[in-house]
Amino acid sequence: MTILVQKFGGTSVGSVERIQSVAQRIALSKSQGNDLVIVVSAMGNTTNELTSLAKSISKSPPKREMDMLLSTGEQVSIALLSIALNELGVSAKSMTGSQVGIVTESSHGKARILEIKTERIKNLLEQGKIVVIAGFQGTSLGSGGTAEITTLGRGGSDTSAIALATALGADACEIYTDVPGVLTTDPRIVPNAQLMQEISCDEMLELASLGAAVLHPRAVEIARNYGIKLIVRSSWNNDPGTTLTSQNKNLISNNGLEVNKPINGAELVENQAVLGLSHIPDKPGIAADLFEMLSKGGVNVDLIIQSTHEGNSNDITFTVCENDLEKAKLLCETFIQKLGGELSTQKQMSKLSIRGAGIMGRPSIAASLFETISKAGINLRLIATSEVKVSCVIDSSMGAKALRSIIEFFKLEDNQVQINPKVVKSGEPAVRGVALDLEQTQVSVINVPDVPGSAAIICKRLADSGISLDTIIQSERKHLNGGRNISFTLNKNDRKLADQVLTHIIKNWIGSHIQDGEAIARISAVGAGMPNTPGTAAKMFRAIANAGINIEMIATSEIRTSCIVPESYGTKALQVVHNFFNLNRTTNLN
Ligand code: ADP
Ligand code: ASP
Ligand code: MG
Repeated sequence: MTILVQKFGGTSVGSVERIQSVAQRIALSKSQGNDLVIVVSAMGNTTNELTSLAKSISKSPPKREMDMLLSTGEQVSIALLSIALNELGVSAKSMTGSQVGIVTESSHGKARILEIKTERIKNLLEQGKIVVIAGFQGTSLGSGGTAEITTLGRGGSDTSAIALATALGADACEIYTDVPGVLTTDPRIVPNAQLMQEISCDEMLELASLGAAVLHPRAVEIARNYGIKLIVRSSWNNDPGTTLTSQNKNLISNNGLEVNKPINGAELVENQAVLGLSHIPDKPGIAADLFEMLSKGGVNVDLIIQSTHEGNSNDITFTVCENDLEKAKLLCETFIQKLGGELSTQKQMSKLSIRGAGIMGRPSIAASLFETISKAGINLRLIATSEVKVSCVIDSSMGAKALRSIIEFFKLEDNQVQINPKVVKSGEPAVRGVALDLEQTQVSVINVPDVPGSAAIICKRLADSGISLDTIIQSERKHLNGGRNISFTLNKNDRKLADQVLTHIIKNWIGSHIQDGEAIARISAVGAGMPNTPGTAAKMFRAIANAGINIEMIATSEIRTSCIVPESYGTKALQVVHNFFNLNRTTNLN
């Protein structure tokens, strides 16, 4: 018998008529011989409406009470859908997260799933019933050992569904929603976005975390970790939708479902060089000109970071393979002769990275990497983070020592460690999809001591408070006392808490202060073929420059390039990047 977990989102169960038509679809699937576990979200806009109700009473309602309130939305849908199914003559039973035994951590509002008890569901399936389960909610054992209702975070029903599929050993998890599947970008912003037949979990993990709301990133993380088949399709028709693919064949035990070992590999790439351009003009087109010139000159650039400064000048830092250093240096020299600025180069650098689907949403992982390295007395030259990989560039002479401490800290086996791995041509597109995130804000800590441990302290303390950083940039230029600026973006909701944490840290740093950036939008391009396609970042910068938009920060990692632009230009930047990569044409997909 095939066990399928099918999840229907808010719009798909947004009215009585929609619930009835979803019930018909489910009944048909049941008649085809499938054992069905159905997960539903709250109807339509219910979760937002409940949130507004609470906010009209209190600016900061207790998190426990918010979970109590929001979990009621899903309870309405499960009951109505079960009533609709029974009305069609199909035997169905609804269950809340607590009734099923979806056991989570105790953190209200964003709990991770620890375990799902499957006995009750299996019994009901054996009786031929359809089980309709409330998404987005679980139960934790509160401090006194009493059960507490928890929620998984906005959009969390996707995670409930894939976690149930994992625990039940289901054949597939199907996410039914209001779009035909995963598209090259959000069709609400770019109407000519195209459907993808397939996307890898790694790419989807990045896109989902960078603003593509179609899937909850944690759902993708589970699919990737456990190799569960995940399909996103429309609830309005029978089209096949998008299938997520995963290379992961090693099934991990279901114990600690969402909190399993987050890291599955480390990598050291030697013979790297860092080029830093500082005090170059801050106007549209500079990054595009620079990286187009390097790409035409045959220089393959790896990591790129850029941040702007007061006084309208820019610093851009990037890494190349040491063999390309002389070529890159000559090109950059001509560039600054024309435009002004200074160039510094450093060779004998190494890039140390950790990878794993569990990095996402766990800021403590990146913080532990930085802390472990700084404890070994090693200074971080550059940092690049993504949802599946965190890299830092350090002095080559320290490479082996840093790698050893990382292996020890993350308890990695020999076969999980690679030194100078060969880049394999994958044939994947350089850019599979693009995403816009308007939820980030930019903060800088000015004049941070340039000694091992400074970046680590910032990341660690923020991580301890549950704050994830993205686009972390250490400035090229130094203050008179040798200090650098560290800028990063974080979720707007975390800004206030971050201020408290940072104020505490900088007390010990003379001349240091916190500075807010202007309102920003983050545009990201993601593609598994990006590392093998020189010039991809340059193309993205060119698209944005052609639209007359200035880029304020750039951060790249292996399979993504993100640009921060002023918030008011976010939508425009997304549209131009999408079309510049020809993502509006189906021929470019797969
Ligand atoms: P549901 O209620 O079914 O969970 P969501 O609103 O959470 O639906 O997610 C679907 C929405 O995600 C779509 O309506 C679309 O506007 C948005 N979206 C953003 N990026 C993408 C993308 N790359 N592909 C498809 N949809 C996207
Ligand atoms: N109802 C919840 C939300 O709106 C969970 C979900 O829909 O996935 O965030
Ligand atoms: Mg959703």
